[in-house]
Amino acid sequence: MAEIRTLDQADVSGKKVLCRFDFNVPLVAGQVGDDTRILEALPTIRYLLDHNARIILCSHLGRPAGIGYEPEFSMAPVARRLVELIDRPVTFVNDIIGERAHKAAARLEDGQVMMLENLRFDKREKKNDPEFARELASLAEVFVNDAFGAAHRAHASITGVTEYLPSYAGMLMTKEVDTLNAMLENPKRPFVAILGGSKVSDKTPIIESLIDKCDTLIIGGGMCFTFLAAQGKGVGTSLMEKDWIAKCAEMLEKAKAKGVNLMLPLDVVCANEFSNDAETCVASCDAIPDHMMGLDIGPETIRYYAHAIAEARTIFWNGPMGVFEMPAYEAGTKSLAVSVAANFDAESIIGGGDSVAAVNKFDLASLMSFISTGGGASMTLVQGDPLPGVEALKW
Ligand code: AMP
Repeated sequence: MAEIRTLDQADVSGKKVLCRFDFNVPLVAGQVGDDTRILEALPTIRYLLDHNARIILCSHLGRPAGIGYEPEFSMAPVARRLVELIDRPVTFVNDIIGERAHKAAARLEDGQVMMLENLRFDKREKKNDPEFARELASLAEVFVNDAFGAAHRAHASITGVTEYLPSYAGMLMTKEVDTLNAMLENPKRPFVAILGGSKVSDKTPIIESLIDKCDTLIIGGGMCFTFLAAQGKGVGTSLMEKDWIAKCAEMLEKAKAKGVNLMLPLDVVCANEFSNDAETCVASCDAIPDHMMGLDIGPETIRYYAHAIAEARTIFWNGPMGVFEMPAYEAGTKSLAVSVAANFDAESIIGGGDSVAAVNKFDLASLMSFISTGGGASMTLVQGDPLPGVEALKW
């Protein structure tokens, strides 16, 4: 199945295992504000505990300057939350590759857990410095990478350490890679991809990649206006990228040539300014008023997209249909999320970032088949680019 080395193939019993997770959690008043990413790591941690490994946890958190300890980016709150979740001690060392880290690792016994300080306190982590990677690797005998959310970064703890240690994918990493690859290689059809978000310039590679794979491509969000402009329509003051009109025209042609049903909005909710309290109206996409901007898909579009989603057997969704953070423009994204959740016959895969925020906001997460934990990483994989962290785990 997986073309990567996976945890079940590793000999971890009695071994010191360096485990890279994505514990980049929000902190609120020195406490973990949302522990979803820690919960996602538990299957791999439990597996290692059950197999008597000596566990050395590491991660980055936030964007420290890379010049040493900064209290607001310390991993200590993550270690405290983990203690509650696994109900056993976690030795926290205020160190990464120094003497304290080495001493604590040497003292670990089977089934014990320690956590290193924020890897990004050392600027050599992001630079994938080989000396830093070698030192980090020297703490352990085996490496497990379960940080899918950071797999698109060629950092020392993601790729560098794999040069020095037998390296395996953790359970979350394996699930992410297998699910997204299966969707791309062998989707149940019809395969309906839904892309939204603000700018088309950011999404061109993923749109092109999905045109090669899917049967129907639904477009919403700010980026629909550059497509509408490419069809010669007026878009008022909506978000539109002039320099990308030609590219959108090319993608419309490509979809047509490939027999992909590329669906654009029929109507939009327009506002006279970018505000929740703006004056609004629903306009056909053939008649968007000059002085107004489209901030959500309209009711006719909602019905049009719902029909396509109901037919799907595989659904991939990345990006909101409108400015869903403002209640006045959330209806399109909410209705689309409900349509996806209501299709029990389809494998529904939510591709990270704002779509996950939307699914959570509307309390629909439990009805989706799979929610990716990595926005940037899942986009990179779906657009067909190699993920350095995954490449490093291949046989
Ligand atoms: P992205 O980061 O590219 O996935 O874009 C997500 C952002 O796109 C969200 O913050 C939305 O508020 C924004 N967005 C969605 N639709 C529109 C729109 N019609 N005009 C402006 N921004 C939008």
